[in-house]
Amino acid sequence: MTLYKINEMFETIQGEGVFTGVPAVFVRLQQCPVGCAWCDTKQTWDATPQDETTFDVIIQKAQDNPQWCQASADDIIQRYQQEGYTARHIVITGGEPCIYDLHALTHAFEAIGCRCQIETSGTFEVKASVDTWVTVSPKVAMKGKLPIIDSALLRANEIKHPVATAKDIDNLDALVSRVDIANSTEIALQPISQKGRATELCIETCIKRNWRLSIQTHKYLSIA
Ligand code: SF4
Repeated sequence: MTLYKINEMFETIQGEGVFTGVPAVFVRLQQCPVGCAWCDTKQTWDATPQDETTFDVIIQKAQDNPQWCQASADDIIQRYQQEGYTARHIVITGGEPCIYDLHALTHAFEAIGCRCQIETSGTFEVKASVDTWVTVSPKVAMKGKLPIIDSALLRANEIKHPVATAKDIDNLDALVSRVDIANSTEIALQPISQKGRATELCIETCIKRNWRLSIQTHKYLSIA
Protein backbone atom coordinates (compact mmCIF):
# COMPACT_ATOMS: atom_id res chain seq x y z
CA MET A 1 0.00 0.00 0.00
CA THR A 2 1.34 3.41 -0.97
CA LEU A 3 1.60 5.90 1.88
CA TYR A 4 1.75 9.60 1.09
CA LYS A 5 3.29 12.33 3.21
CA ILE A 6 0.85 15.23 3.33
CA ASN A 7 1.78 18.81 4.13
CA GLU A 8 -1.63 20.39 3.56
CA MET A 9 -5.13 19.60 2.34
CA PHE A 10 -7.62 22.39 1.79
CA GLU A 11 -10.40 23.60 -0.48
CA THR A 12 -9.94 26.73 -2.56
CA ILE A 13 -10.02 27.97 -6.18
CA GLN A 14 -7.30 26.85 -8.61
CA GLY A 15 -5.40 30.07 -9.25
CA GLU A 16 -3.24 29.22 -12.26
CA GLY A 17 -3.03 27.31 -15.52
CA VAL A 18 -5.85 25.87 -17.62
CA PHE A 19 -8.09 25.26 -14.61
CA THR A 20 -7.85 28.83 -13.28
CA GLY A 21 -11.03 29.68 -11.42
CA VAL A 22 -12.11 26.08 -10.85
CA PRO A 23 -13.01 25.13 -7.26
CA ALA A 24 -10.45 22.60 -6.12
CA VAL A 25 -9.22 20.56 -3.21
CA PHE A 26 -5.45 20.82 -2.95
CA VAL A 27 -3.48 17.89 -1.59
CA ARG A 28 0.05 19.13 -1.01
CA LEU A 29 2.56 16.32 -0.66
CA GLN A 30 5.75 16.63 1.36
CA GLN A 31 9.31 16.43 -0.01
CA CYS A 32 11.05 17.87 -3.03
CA PRO A 33 14.68 17.46 -4.11
CA VAL A 34 14.52 19.98 -7.00
CA GLY A 35 15.76 23.08 -5.14
CA CYS A 36 14.31 26.10 -6.99
CA ALA A 37 15.77 29.27 -5.46
CA TRP A 38 12.40 31.10 -5.75
CA CYS A 39 10.29 28.19 -4.44
CA ASP A 40 7.32 29.44 -2.45
CA THR A 41 6.76 26.10 -0.69
CA LYS A 42 10.19 25.51 0.82
CA GLN A 43 8.45 24.12 3.91
CA THR A 44 7.73 20.97 1.87
CA TRP A 45 11.32 20.16 0.93
CA ASP A 46 12.20 17.80 3.79
CA ALA A 47 10.26 15.36 5.92
CA THR A 48 12.02 15.25 9.24
CA PRO A 49 10.70 12.77 11.83
CA GLN A 50 10.16 15.51 14.42
CA ASP A 51 7.71 17.24 12.05
CA GLU A 52 5.45 14.20 11.71
CA THR A 53 1.97 14.84 13.10
CA THR A 54 -1.63 13.70 12.69
CA PHE A 55 -4.10 14.29 9.86
CA ASP A 56 -6.23 16.32 12.30
CA VAL A 57 -3.37 18.79 12.75
CA ILE A 58 -2.62 18.92 9.02
CA ILE A 59 -6.22 19.59 8.02
CA GLN A 60 -6.44 22.52 10.43
CA LYS A 61 -3.13 24.06 9.34
CA ALA A 62 -3.56 27.81 9.00
CA GLN A 63 0.03 28.78 8.19
CA ASP A 64 2.83 27.29 6.11
CA ASN A 65 5.05 24.97 8.12
CA PRO A 66 7.03 21.75 7.57
CA GLN A 67 4.65 19.52 9.55
CA TRP A 68 3.37 16.47 7.68
CA CYS A 69 1.33 13.35 8.26
CA GLN A 70 1.37 9.97 6.58
CA ALA A 71 -1.83 8.69 4.94
CA SER A 72 -3.01 6.10 2.44
CA ALA A 73 -5.30 6.87 -0.49
CA ASP A 74 -8.24 5.53 1.55
CA ASP A 75 -7.36 7.81 4.49
CA ILE A 76 -7.26 10.81 2.16
CA ILE A 77 -10.61 9.98 0.56
CA GLN A 78 -12.15 9.46 3.99
CA ARG A 79 -10.85 12.87 5.07
CA TYR A 80 -12.13 14.51 1.87
CA GLN A 81 -15.60 13.10 2.63
CA GLN A 82 -15.46 13.95 6.35
CA GLU A 83 -14.59 17.57 5.61
CA GLY A 84 -17.67 17.87 3.37
CA TYR A 85 -15.70 19.36 0.50
CA THR A 86 -17.81 20.17 -2.55
CA ALA A 87 -15.03 20.73 -5.12
CA ARG A 88 -14.66 17.81 -7.51
CA HIS A 89 -11.33 18.93 -8.97
CA ILE A 90 -8.36 17.59 -7.01
CA VAL A 91 -4.96 19.23 -7.37
CA ILE A 92 -2.12 17.00 -6.23
CA THR A 93 0.85 19.25 -5.75
CA GLY A 94 3.88 19.67 -3.57
CA GLY A 95 6.68 19.60 -3.00
CA GLU A 96 7.21 17.26 -5.92
CA PRO A 97 4.22 14.88 -6.03
CA CYS A 98 5.80 12.60 -8.62
CA ILE A 99 8.31 11.23 -6.14
CA TYR A 100 5.25 9.13 -5.17
CA ASP A 101 3.38 6.52 -7.15
CA LEU A 102 0.05 8.36 -7.55
CA HIS A 103 -1.95 5.52 -9.12
CA ALA A 104 -3.75 4.60 -5.90
CA LEU A 105 -4.59 8.20 -5.01
CA THR A 106 -5.80 9.27 -8.45
CA HIS A 107 -7.87 6.11 -8.96
CA ALA A 108 -9.42 6.51 -5.50
CA PHE A 109 -10.53 10.08 -6.24
CA GLU A 110 -11.87 9.11 -9.65
CA ALA A 111 -13.86 6.29 -8.06
CA ILE A 112 -15.85 8.91 -6.09
CA GLY A 113 -16.44 11.10 -9.15
CA CYS A 114 -13.52 13.52 -8.92
CA ARG A 115 -11.02 14.62 -11.59
CA CYS A 116 -7.33 14.80 -10.65
CA GLN A 117 -4.65 17.24 -11.73
CA ILE A 118 -0.98 16.81 -10.89
CA GLU A 119 1.42 19.74 -10.75
CA THR A 120 4.96 18.45 -11.28
CA SER A 121 8.42 19.79 -12.12
CA GLY A 122 8.96 17.17 -14.84
CA THR A 123 11.95 15.64 -13.07
CA PHE A 124 10.24 12.34 -12.18
CA GLU A 125 8.19 9.82 -14.14
CA VAL A 126 4.45 10.49 -13.77
CA LYS A 127 2.71 7.49 -12.20
CA ALA A 128 -1.01 8.24 -12.20
CA SER A 129 -4.33 7.21 -13.78
CA VAL A 130 -4.65 7.82 -17.53
CA ASP A 131 -7.41 10.37 -16.93
CA THR A 132 -5.27 12.52 -14.64
CA TRP A 133 -4.53 15.97 -16.07
CA VAL A 134 -0.78 16.47 -15.87
CA THR A 135 0.62 19.97 -15.59
CA VAL A 136 4.39 19.97 -16.04
CA SER A 137 6.09 23.12 -14.90
CA PRO A 138 9.66 22.36 -15.96
CA LYS A 139 12.29 23.42 -13.44
CA VAL A 140 15.48 23.59 -15.51
CA ALA A 141 19.02 23.66 -14.01
CA MET A 142 18.00 24.05 -10.38
CA LYS A 143 20.18 23.36 -7.35
CA GLY A 144 19.17 19.71 -7.15
CA LYS A 145 20.61 19.19 -10.69
CA LEU A 146 17.71 16.95 -11.75
CA PRO A 147 17.12 16.78 -15.52
CA ILE A 148 13.66 17.23 -17.04
CA ILE A 149 12.72 13.79 -18.29
CA ASP A 150 11.19 13.11 -21.71
CA SER A 151 8.42 10.82 -20.41
CA ALA A 152 7.11 13.64 -18.18
CA LEU A 153 7.03 16.09 -21.11
CA LEU A 154 5.27 13.53 -23.31
CA ARG A 155 2.67 12.82 -20.59
CA ALA A 156 1.95 16.53 -20.07
CA ASN A 157 -1.51 17.85 -20.90
CA GLU A 158 -0.20 21.28 -20.08
CA ILE A 159 3.34 22.68 -19.96
CA LYS A 160 3.32 25.73 -17.73
CA HIS A 161 6.72 27.31 -17.84
CA PRO A 162 7.96 29.67 -15.13
CA VAL A 163 9.63 32.70 -16.73
CA ALA A 164 11.95 35.31 -15.22
CA THR A 165 14.10 36.20 -18.26
CA ALA A 166 14.40 35.44 -22.00
CA LYS A 167 16.75 32.57 -21.12
CA ASP A 168 13.77 30.73 -19.62
CA ILE A 169 11.97 30.91 -22.98
CA ASP A 170 15.10 29.52 -24.69
CA ASN A 171 15.08 26.67 -22.17
CA LEU A 172 11.44 25.93 -22.98
CA ASP A 173 12.17 25.97 -26.72
CA ALA A 174 14.97 23.47 -26.16
CA LEU A 175 12.67 21.20 -24.14
CA VAL A 176 9.74 21.18 -26.54
CA SER A 177 11.97 20.64 -29.56
CA ARG A 178 13.55 17.63 -27.82
CA VAL A 179 10.36 15.55 -27.78
CA ASP A 180 7.36 15.25 -30.07
CA ILE A 181 4.86 17.17 -27.93
CA ALA A 182 1.24 16.37 -28.81
CA ASN A 183 -0.69 19.14 -30.59
CA SER A 184 -3.25 19.00 -27.81
CA THR A 185 -0.67 19.92 -25.15
CA GLU A 186 -1.33 23.42 -23.88
CA ILE A 187 1.74 25.61 -23.49
CA ALA A 188 1.58 28.48 -21.03
CA LEU A 189 4.09 30.98 -19.74
CA GLN A 190 3.88 32.01 -16.12
CA PRO A 191 5.81 35.03 -14.83
CA ILE A 192 7.79 34.22 -11.69
CA SER A 193 6.74 36.13 -8.57
CA GLN A 194 4.49 38.64 -10.41
CA LYS A 195 7.60 40.56 -11.61
CA GLY A 196 6.76 43.38 -14.07
CA ARG A 197 9.48 42.67 -16.67
CA ALA A 198 8.78 38.93 -16.59
CA THR A 199 5.06 39.58 -17.04
CA GLU A 200 5.70 41.85 -20.06
CA LEU A 201 8.02 39.25 -21.60
CA CYS A 202 5.42 36.51 -21.11
CA ILE A 203 2.65 38.62 -22.66
CA GLU A 204 4.80 39.52 -25.72
CA THR A 205 5.89 35.91 -26.24
CA CYS A 206 2.43 34.41 -25.73
CA ILE A 207 0.98 36.73 -28.37
CA LYS A 208 3.79 35.94 -30.84
CA ARG A 209 3.64 32.18 -30.31
CA ASN A 210 -0.10 31.85 -29.68
CA TRP A 211 0.58 30.37 -26.24
CA ARG A 212 -1.41 30.92 -23.07
CA LEU A 213 -0.52 33.32 -20.30
CA SER A 214 -0.82 31.84 -16.82
CA ILE A 215 -1.06 34.31 -13.98
CA GLN A 216 -0.95 33.23 -10.34
CA THR A 217 -4.31 34.83 -9.63
CA HIS A 218 -4.44 33.39 -6.10
CA LYS A 219 -1.46 35.60 -5.19
CA TYR A 220 -3.32 38.72 -6.36
CA LEU A 221 -6.39 37.58 -4.42
CA SER A 222 -4.32 36.62 -1.36
CA ILE A 223 -5.91 33.20 -1.16
CA ALA A 224 -4.14 29.87 -0.67
S1 SF4 B 1 9.87 21.89 -7.83
FE1 SF4 B 1 8.24 23.08 -6.85
S2 SF4 B 1 8.33 22.50 -4.68
FE2 SF4 B 1 10.23 21.79 -5.62
S3 SF4 B 1 11.70 23.44 -5.22
FE3 SF4 B 1 10.80 23.82 -7.25
S4 SF4 B 1 9.03 25.18 -6.90
FE4 SF4 B 1 9.63 24.28 -4.90
